[in-house]
Amino acid sequence: MGRLLDLGERVELVSMDPHFHDISISLYRETGEGGASGYLAHSYSGKESTTERLAFVMRAMAVMGGMVPAPGQPGRLAFSCGEEHRAAVKRLFLEACKKAPGSEVAALPMSIYDKKNDFTIDAVATGGGGYRLATADGGADDKVARRVDGVTRGLIKLAEMEPGAEPGEARFACGTTHDELVRLLLGRSLNVRAAMREAEAAAARGVLAAPSAQQQT
Ligand SMILES: [Zn+2]
Repeated sequence: MGRLLDLGERVELVSMDPHFHDISISLYRETGEGGASGYLAHSYSGKESTTERLAFVMRAMAVMGGMVPAPGQPGRLAFSCGEEHRAAVKRLFLEACKKAPGSEVAALPMSIYDKKNDFTIDAVATGGGGYRLATADGGADDKVARRVDGVTRGLIKLAEMEPGAEPGEARFACGTTHDELVRLLLGRSLNVRAAMREAEAAAARGVLAAPSAQQQT
């Protein structure tokens, strides 16, 4: 215990896992076969059943993020395109760690209900990594259009996507469909500011906790 392993670059940290003895869990990235980014959740905690907790977090990431076994990197997960998708994977990891052991993990719907404005926004894959956001009833008054545009911009920011040709359109630069990531980040896109604040807080914690978390036994 206390031995440092070469796990690659640490991209995110949960300094205290409220669902498992407040252990710290980190997400590491290493470049594998064909340049694919392989991700691993790891903890230096010596607590019993830590391995099971980490396995649960990895399974949750696979289900909620559509990740697959990383080619040539046993025990690691990757996106099917092999790309890093750093912002999305950080969010995915944080969300996976929020799940209590044994809780059900399922992919989210491809739509969000905007409580404030009382309408639902659906995302539809248009191929080549592209998505189109629209309200279910196709309503297109200015207020609705602005809201859809705002959510699309939020999604672009959170998922590091590119704007599409039309308002309400966005695409992944890798050209791959990532429905699970869209499902995961769509809900956050309603309130991007809160999502960004949470990400910044996690980043600050990561910096502060870096040395001790690395050496924790
Ligand atoms: Zn991709």
